[in-house]
Amino acid sequence: MTVHHHLDDASIMRYASGDFDEAFAIVVASHLAMCEECRAAVRTAEAMGGAVLEAVEAMPLAKDAFDRLSRMLDVEPEVPPMRHELDAGNVPLPLSRLIGGDLAQVPWRTIVPGMQRHRIDIASTTSSLYMLKIAPGRKMPEHGHGGTEMTLILEGSYSDIFGQFAAGDIADLDEHVEHQPVVDSDIDCICLVATEHPTRFKGMISRILQPLIGI
Ligand SMILES: [Zn+2]
Repeated sequence: MTVHHHLDDASIMRYASGDFDEAFAIVVASHLAMCEECRAAVRTAEAMGGAVLEAVEAMPLAKDAFDRLSRMLDVEPEVPPMRHELDAGNVPLPLSRLIGGDLAQVPWRTIVPGMQRHRIDIASTTSSLYMLKIAPGRKMPEHGHGGTEMTLILEGSYSDIFGQFAAGDIADLDEHVEHQPVVDSDIDCICLVATEHPTRFKGMISRILQPLIGI
C-alpha cells in the first residue's frame, strides 16, 4: 500500500504523548496500522518525549540541561516496533475491533441517496467517530470545520483541493480548511472520520440537511 497523505507533525506529537481523545486516537492508530512512515515518526516522538521526561527529572535546574538533552536526542532510540496489522478484510485492527472485522458487515444507514453513514459509539463527549460510504461521482457537501477533522480512507478514493486520497491516506485538517471532496473511484469510497465539533456546512440546503445528516 502506497500512502501519499500522512499525519502532520503536531498530530504525531499529540498521539505520542497520549493527548488525543478516543475518536482521534482510533483514526490515528488505524492510519499507523497502514503506514510505516508515520509509525517511525511516532516512535521517534515517543523517544523524544521519554528523553525530555528523563532530563527534566534528572537535572531540572542544571545550566547545561539543554545541551545534555540535545546530546540525548542524537542517540538512536531503541524502541520496539509498534504492532501493526491489517485483518483479513483489509481493515486496520484498531477499527476492526469496533466494527466486527468486516466492511461488508457494517450496518450502514442511508443519509441521502449515494451517502451512507455508520456511527461508532465511543465514550467521548467532545468528538465523534463515524464511517462514511459514498458512491462514485458523489460530492460531499462543501464544508468548513468547527474544529479538527481527520479522515482515513479505507476503500476507494476521493479528490479535493489537496489531491487524491486513496486507501491508507489520511486527511488531517484543521478548522480553517474548507473543501469539497468528490469520489473519483469506480467503487464506493469508505472512510473513517473523527470530528471535534459538528461540521458547519455553508450552503442553505446543506445547513437545513445538517441536523438530519448529523455530521
Ligand atoms: Zn502516514
